[in-house]
Amino acid sequence: MGSSELPFPPGDYDVVVVGSGPGGLQTAYFLERLSVPHAVLSADDAPGGMFRKWPIFQRLLSWSKPEAPFGRDTREYEWYDHNSLLAEESGLRGLVPEFMDRSWAVPSRVEMEQGLAAFADRAGVAVRYGCRWQSTRREEDGRLVLGTTDGEYRCRAAVFALGVTEPWRSPIPGIEEVPHYAETGEPASYAGKSVVVIGKRNSGFEIADGLLPWARKITLVSPRPAETSVIALASIRVRYLQPLEDRALGGGTYVLDAAIERIERTSTGFLVVANGTTHQAGYELDCDAALAATGFTTPLGDLGGLGVRTVAQGRIPALTPHFEAAGAPGVFFAGNATQGAAGLRKRGVGASSPAVHGFRYNAKVLAEHLAERLGVRDRPRRPLAREEVVPFLAGELARAPELWAQKGYLCRVVGLDGPSDDGIQPLEHFVDASGGDAVAVAVEMDAGGTIYPGVYVRQEGRIREVELEPHPLNEFDREPYRRELATLVGEP
Ligand SMILES: Cc1cc2nc3c(=O)[nH]c(=O)nc-3n(C[C@H](O)[C@H](O)[C@H](O)COP(=O)(O)OP(=O)(O)OC[C@H]3O[C@@H](n4cnc5c(N)ncnc54)[C@H](O)[C@@H]3O)c2cc1C
Repeated sequence: MGSSELPFPPGDYDVVVVGSGPGGLQTAYFLERLSVPHAVLSADDAPGGMFRKWPIFQRLLSWSKPEAPFGRDTREYEWYDHNSLLAEESGLRGLVPEFMDRSWAVPSRVEMEQGLAAFADRAGVAVRYGCRWQSTRREEDGRLVLGTTDGEYRCRAAVFALGVTEPWRSPIPGIEEVPHYAETGEPASYAGKSVVVIGKRNSGFEIADGLLPWARKITLVSPRPAETSVIALASIRVRYLQPLEDRALGGGTYVLDAAIERIERTSTGFLVVANGTTHQAGYELDCDAALAATGFTTPLGDLGGLGVRTVAQGRIPALTPHFEAAGAPGVFFAGNATQGAAGLRKRGVGASSPAVHGFRYNAKVLAEHLAERLGVRDRPRRPLAREEVVPFLAGELARAPELWAQKGYLCRVVGLDGPSDDGIQPLEHFVDASGGDAVAVAVEMDAGGTIYPGVYVRQEGRIREVELEPHPLNEFDREPYRRELATLVGEP
């Protein structure tokens, strides 16, 4: 295709989206449905983002159940399918399971890539591929200018869906010599070797799991203990508890809590020198191979110069509840980077924003916010009859995939002067914002995994927060929940 035939030539747009991973595709889809004029650019040649190459062992962490109590074309099915992108048209929903060979309830990398490509194709998400964003500046009128390999794009708001996939290494002397997760070799090249994996988060466990059939000995090292109680409740457990089981069985896997002092090259591999954290001891780990599973960072380019601040040791942009960079108005983020909007973290439980099943909902919230902010259209408010309010809120608590995926983070808001369904919004925004009388409901979870409904009532500008009791079957749409909701919203 010649550059004159590519979509979105350089020029002026209301919004420019950068990235064609799931975050960029989902944001572009909703901007299009909301009629927000926009352009989408990507350095890649095809849709899929990170899933065009990773996870490195070719199996996702997140599940999709091809068979579920609800049809794939329904909203309720989203909860059973954590990988497909969202769509309003029933024929575009639940596309990833269509490509799964069902040997696992977790898609392979290729199946995920195919599902994302099918979404981009069937939903008609246009992207200017092969176009790399290189620089950013702000004009005097406040507009942003994105310099790219194809020319300059001016916009009122930019959405960076850049992913969090640039290799990042902890500041350990000697670690620069150690290959990163991104440079993991063919599994067979580790046959019979002793391997030290630096890092005990998802990517560390993925490597350990992938190398179990090959390596002679695997030692995972990092200062903090793996939070097995958290892993056990998360979808990542699907493949990642096997190394822990191997350790428990004495199969040659070791999981050390230790701070690494330095790493030295040896004639046959590496020497990792570390000091125990939970067990006071010094370790000298002589190994044939080492891999740095120390994490990833967002490729922020020159955005720091515009005022974008960061959290998590500079790896993630610091964001407002509507995913705007704190310190850089008009600079928004989508996809994995929306984890920079941490939310309330009540009881210490974080959002699911680093994974597709969480950030796909953030993308809808972001697109609706941009449409309102740029004056394209007001937030849709669906009128409700007064007697509908309680059954609607109770049904959302029991089944809304947005609330179940983004526990304690996104909420369903109903305006009480009307009344009206005011849609899904960030909970942090609801509790901080002023406005008319309204009620918001969220599905919440404590650190022990107990799930319960949270109700937030705003009356005369004051917020009252009420936690309802958990239910063993999560039947929040029945009595006594309806009765309690009715009392809270002031119904007789
Ligand atoms: C090892 C690993 C395994 C993971 N496994 C899962 C999983 O199983 N399930 C899950 O839900 N999540 C998983 N994640 C999280 C995962 O990163 C996201 O779900 C998903 O890839 C994020 O989508 P994204 O759109 O934010 O970014 P990405 O998919 O990373 O896409 C980023 C896009 O930005 C583009 N881009 C970057 N810089 C530029 C530039 N300068 N100019 C133009 N374009 C640019 C890239 O070309 C790409 O198209 C995993 C992450 C890692 C690191």
